[in-house]
Amino acid sequence: MGLMPYENEPYLDWSDGTNVEKMRAALAEVGAALGRSYPAIIGGERVETDGEIVSVNPSDPSRVVGRTARATEREADAALETATRAFESWSRAAPEARARILLRAAAIMRRRKFEFLAWEVYEGGKPWAEADAQVAEGIDFLEYYAREMLRLKDGVEIYAVPGEESRYFYQPMGVGVVIAPWNFPTAILAGMSSAAIVAGNTIVMKPSEFTSVIGAKVAEVFEEAGLPEGVLNFLPGYGSEVGDYLVSDPRTRFVSFTGSMKTGLRINELAARRTEDQRWIKRVIAEMGGKDAMVIDDSADLESAAADIVKSAYGNAGQKCSAASRAILHADVYDEVLAKVLEGAQALKLGVPDDPGVSVGPVISDAQFEKVSGYIETGKGEGERLLGEDPGDPKAGYFVTPTVFGEVDPRARIAQEEIFGPVLSVIKARDFEDALRIANDTPYGLTGGVYSKNRDHLERARREFRAGNVYFNRGITGALVGVQPFGGFGLSGTDSKAGGPDYLPQHMLAKTVVERF
Ligand code: NAD
Repeated sequence: MGLMPYENEPYLDWSDGTNVEKMRAALAEVGAALGRSYPAIIGGERVETDGEIVSVNPSDPSRVVGRTARATEREADAALETATRAFESWSRAAPEARARILLRAAAIMRRRKFEFLAWEVYEGGKPWAEADAQVAEGIDFLEYYAREMLRLKDGVEIYAVPGEESRYFYQPMGVGVVIAPWNFPTAILAGMSSAAIVAGNTIVMKPSEFTSVIGAKVAEVFEEAGLPEGVLNFLPGYGSEVGDYLVSDPRTRFVSFTGSMKTGLRINELAARRTEDQRWIKRVIAEMGGKDAMVIDDSADLESAAADIVKSAYGNAGQKCSAASRAILHADVYDEVLAKVLEGAQALKLGVPDDPGVSVGPVISDAQFEKVSGYIETGKGEGERLLGEDPGDPKAGYFVTPTVFGEVDPRARIAQEEIFGPVLSVIKARDFEDALRIANDTPYGLTGGVYSKNRDHLERARREFRAGNVYFNRGITGALVGVQPFGGFGLSGTDSKAGGPDYLPQHMLAKTVVERF
C-alpha cells in the first residue's frame, strides 16, 4: 500500500487571521447546534434510553452542550451481543481494508478540525491551542495505528531450524470495552478505539459522562469513514451504572481503559475474576493517573526551566495525567526558580476559552471543582500558598486560579496525591540525589523531567527516574504520537505506550505456527 511516511499533524498558526476567522465561524456554528440529543449507536441502530446524560459547558454550567443516551445494563448487553456477532466478519476483514478506514477517519477529522476544536471549547473547556493540539493528536493516532497495522499484518521475523518454517503473527482478540476519560475527549477516545478496531476487534465505546457529546462526534467520524455496523458500538453512560457490567461480562475479551487510578484498579480486579463459561483471561490495558515531577538542579538554565514548569503545570488547567504537579528545586536555585515560576503563572490568563487570549480554562465539572478546591484547603495547612485565590462560586463556571504552594513537604498530601487541577507543589531538595529520591517517592510513575547541564545527573536520571516518560531540559507534557510513546510505571498503569510500536500487539493474540517439510 503506497502511503506518505508518517508525520505528526501540524498545529494551527493562530497568528494567521484566516485560522482565527475559521475558528470564530466554527464557534458560531457549533454554538447554534448546542443542546441537541445523541442516542447510543448499537449495530448502526440509533438507540434511545429511558434516562439521559446532560452535558454542560464547564465555563457556564447553565448552558447545555447536549444530551446523550444514558446506557443501562440492557443497552450494554445489546452492545456486547452486537459486537460479539460483528467480530465474526470484522476479524476476517483484510488488515489493509481496516487500515484504510482509519486513514479515511483521519481525513474526515482533519476536514472537520475547526468543528472539533469548537466542541472542545464548549464541552471540554479547552483554550484554542490546547484543543488544536488534542485534535491533532487524535488525527495522529489514526494515521499512526493504520501504518502500524500495515507493518504488523504479516507478523514479525523470527528464526527457524533447518527443514522447518516458523511463522509468528498476530490475530484479532475479540470484543473490547473502551473506557475513556474526559480530559482528552477527542484524542484518547479516538486513539484507544482506533487501535482496537484496526487490530480486527470490535468494541463497545464508552466515553466519559462529562464529554459524551464529543464521544458522539468521534463515533460519527468512524461511521462516516465507512466502518461496518456493529464494529464500534457507541454507548454513552455513567461508569458507576454500566462500568462493572461491561468489565465483568464473559463476552468481554479485553478492556482498554484510561482514567483514574481508583477506577483502573477496580477494573483490573473485576476483569481478573473468571465468570462461568469464560474461556480466556481478560486483558486489561490501563493508563492511569500521575503525580509528575520536574527536578531542577543547580546547573540548569533557570529561565527556561521555570517557563517549562509553568507550561507543564497549567496547560489544560493542570488536567493532564502528565502535568507537572511537583517542582523539586535544588536548594541553591530554589528562590530564583520559584520567583520566575510565580511570575510566569501570574501572567496566565484564566477565563472562558472562546476568547483566543485565554490560556487557562475551567476545570471540567462540579465534582472536579470541589475536589481541587478541597486540595487547595488542604494545601493551606501543608505549605505556603504563594499564588492563587480561593475558588469562587462554581455556578459562574468551574474556574480555579493557577495556584502555587511553596515549601511543601515531599510526603504532604498535596505532594503525593493526584489533584488534577492547576495546583503546583514546590519542594526544596538538598541536592540532586535528594531531588531524585523525592521524585521517585510516590506510588505513581507516569512522566518526569530533569533540567540540568550536568551529564552525570542526566545519565543517572535516565536509569533511575521511575517514570514511563522522562524528559530532559524541556516540558513534560504533550507526548507526540509515534515520537514519544506514552504510558506509565507503578500505579500509573500497564505501561501500554500509546502511540508507540508496542501498542497494537497488546490488542492482538500472537501466534506461532511451525511447519516441518
Ligand atoms: P475516571 O476514572 O473517573 O473515569 C474514567 C472513565 O471510567 C469514565 O469513562 C468513567 O465513566 C469510567 N468509569 C468510572 N467508574 C467505572 C467503573 N466502575 N467501571 C468501568 N468504568 C468506570 O477518570 P476521569 O476523571 O475521567 O479522568 C481523569 C483521570 O484520568 C486522571 O486520573 C488522569 O491522570 C487519568 N488519565 C490518564 C492518562 C494516561 O494516559 N495515563 C491520560 C488521561 C487521563
